[in-house]
Amino acid sequence: MSRGTQAIIHLDAVQHNFSVAHSLAPNSKRMAVVKADGYGHGAQQISKALHNSDGFAVATLAEAEALHIAGINQNKLLLEGVANPDQLQKANDLNLWLVVHKLEQIDWLTACSLPNQHWNVWLKVDTGMHRLGLPPNSVPAALTALSELETVASVTLMTHFARADEIGNAHTQRQIQLFNSLTDKACETSLCNSPGIFFWPEAHGSWIRPGIMLYGASPSADKTAKELGLKPAMTLNSPIIDIHQIKAGESVGYGGRWTAKSDSVIATLAIGYGDGYPRHAPNNTPVWINGKIAKLVGTVSMDMLCVDISNLEEVQCGDIAELWGANLPVDEVAKHCGTIGYELLTRVMPRVEKVYL
Ligand SMILES: *Cc1c(COP(=O)(O)O)cnc(C)c1O
Repeated sequence: MSRGTQAIIHLDAVQHNFSVAHSLAPNSKRMAVVKADGYGHGAQQISKALHNSDGFAVATLAEAEALHIAGINQNKLLLEGVANPDQLQKANDLNLWLVVHKLEQIDWLTACSLPNQHWNVWLKVDTGMHRLGLPPNSVPAALTALSELETVASVTLMTHFARADEIGNAHTQRQIQLFNSLTDKACETSLCNSPGIFFWPEAHGSWIRPGIMLYGASPSADKTAKELGLKPAMTLNSPIIDIHQIKAGESVGYGGRWTAKSDSVIATLAIGYGDGYPRHAPNNTPVWINGKIAKLVGTVSMDMLCVDISNLEEVQCGDIAELWGANLPVDEVAKHCGTIGYELLTRVMPRVEKVYL
């Protein structure tokens, strides 16, 4: 029997958010990013819902294989490429598209003698993120080397933004200029993650790579998801399993991190950090109950957390509280917790039952 703690996944919201990406960049192909199990939403179900996507991007071979086994036949891009030459066999079996972000990976392709290779390569250039990618001055030679490989069917030039969420930021302008100076007209391009899609239309290129926006969270602290026309894809729910009164001066939870100033009513929910709700959520983090916002009190436990419902009327055991979702933006909860919606969504544990609508 389920304890009632559920992540409701609104697939229609995911489809809506995908159409937002498409209408912002109507001339670009779409590489939907479903790494980290679809940002915690279930990569297979998300990919099936986005059957009109031109491809799916994942971070690991195992993620790609899971999509393959689930019968997802669209193009699959391995965002960090292969980690060693031995992985090329599996990548070839799965017909994966490969990011190449260092020259060594070109050497591996050159030396690879598997039958039936036709690699679609996304050559990643570091234009200022300084995490992965070839230095700009080695791009022309890398493009030449790849074009001379018979096993390489196509090359797309890609880069990744460090600060696309900061609207108008000069760093992103410089990244775009540098990228454009390297682009040869023959090859397709891809620059934009979600914030790029919203805020840097001049950089849409041949392929967009929407991630967080598909899941209805905001890619920027400057705009809410609602302002951007996005709909939340996950509603995280948990039932109230106990309601009790405490007296002024009494504390709640491990470490007594919250003490009641007046007599209070406390509701206990069946969710904790063992489900992915952040333990570092501070007192007063919002929780939605029956149309009102109540406040988290005390340290989050592994399986439970407590909420002050003194100001709410008619709350009963069994009522369903929403930790984030349709009524309470994940970004708002994230702000209280000093993190971003991306992290909260991605952390939701397998123990939380997923229900697809
Ligand atoms: C994760 C990732 C994305 C998606 O980024 P969002 O901000 O979630 O849209 C795009 N491109 C690359 C290379 C990524 O690693």
